[in-house]
Amino acid sequence: MEPHSVLNSQKIPSRSRAAWSRKIFTLIFMVSIGLNIYFILHNNPDAPAPLETATEVAAKSEPVPVAPLPAVPVPAAVDEAAVEKKTPAPALPVAPRKKTKLERVEVKRASFSSQDFGEGKEIHALHFKVRNSLSFSTCRIMQEGCEQMSAYISRLLVWFFDVESNMRNGDSVHLVYEKLDSEERFKILKLVYKSEFAGKTFQANFYRTGELDYGVYYDQEGKEIARRIAGEAAPIQDYQEITSLPGDFRGDRGGHAGTDFKAEVGTPIFSSFEGKVTRTNWNIRSNGYCVEIDHPREGVKTLYLHLSRVLVKPGLYVKKGQKIAESGNTGRTFAPHLHYEIKGRGKRKRIYNPFEFKHLTTFNREIPTQHWEDFVHTVRLYDQALNES
Ligand SMILES: [Zn+2]
Repeated sequence: MEPHSVLNSQKIPSRSRAAWSRKIFTLIFMVSIGLNIYFILHNNPDAPAPLETATEVAAKSEPVPVAPLPAVPVPAAVDEAAVEKKTPAPALPVAPRKKTKLERVEVKRASFSSQDFGEGKEIHALHFKVRNSLSFSTCRIMQEGCEQMSAYISRLLVWFFDVESNMRNGDSVHLVYEKLDSEERFKILKLVYKSEFAGKTFQANFYRTGELDYGVYYDQEGKEIARRIAGEAAPIQDYQEITSLPGDFRGDRGGHAGTDFKAEVGTPIFSSFEGKVTRTNWNIRSNGYCVEIDHPREGVKTLYLHLSRVLVKPGLYVKKGQKIAESGNTGRTFAPHLHYEIKGRGKRKRIYNPFEFKHLTTFNREIPTQHWEDFVHTVRLYDQALNES
């Protein structure tokens, strides 16, 4: 009897405690549902509305050709190149929407031929403000090749700031460019970009030193805008330009995983670090001739794709800076280039940007002193072209 009653007397309060906590839980649950419903129904109409996507705006206004995010005409190597990225792709790279609805884009265009830029060359100047996205803004004012132009501008801006997340509505773009007959269509001679986010103005001036048959872009101080990988770790020394960085072509399979260096077929390719060749020439259809090297010390593997010649075999140990191949145009590619990739050794296969990777050092070249005066003269001509338009 005694034990039974004790048992009972213990049981009753514990049961009622349980009942009470169930009631309290139900109450909290109902209140939270109620709050949710309240916030859904009474969403503050003055709160900043989400950005209109280019497609939505186009549907409301006149039919404007809408371009996807800028892409460079060199495809990502499909197999190994498109690996899961660490961060998800952000939304369209633009800013808080202003109250005015689709005001006219500020456009000033000029077209003139200048003897100074060379005989019979058609030089254009263009001024506009960013609305929604760079490609959207460019396509509103250019009939032809707006996507190429937008990709081209992004490719220059990428050295100044994070185009994906820091571009803002109202940023202004000033361009001097030359029309080309070739597939590339344009040569940007000067880009001036006023960034609201950075509170700064960036500029890129095209200049050819004469020793090279191609030109590069310098800022107003004569510093090359694109960075370079220093020393023996550079996978390639002799290249014309970087046409794509990791994270480009977002939206599809996590984006481009490598860095593309535009270079003549046959340019020497070097191993960035000491390591062991793990495989060569896998999936030739997309990667072309290719090399993969494992670097336990740096915790990464490096990949070199679209080669014309491979000089190493799986199992071989290579030194830092050792020549391992020659660049080419094999596999899925439109133009000769090296696709260089740094990825983690683990299962997550993290992708590293070579210009931010801790085991690589980078630098900016400066304009050679003997060209300084001519460079200043050229920049003055570009500025004149901008000011006259
Ligand atoms: Zn590539």
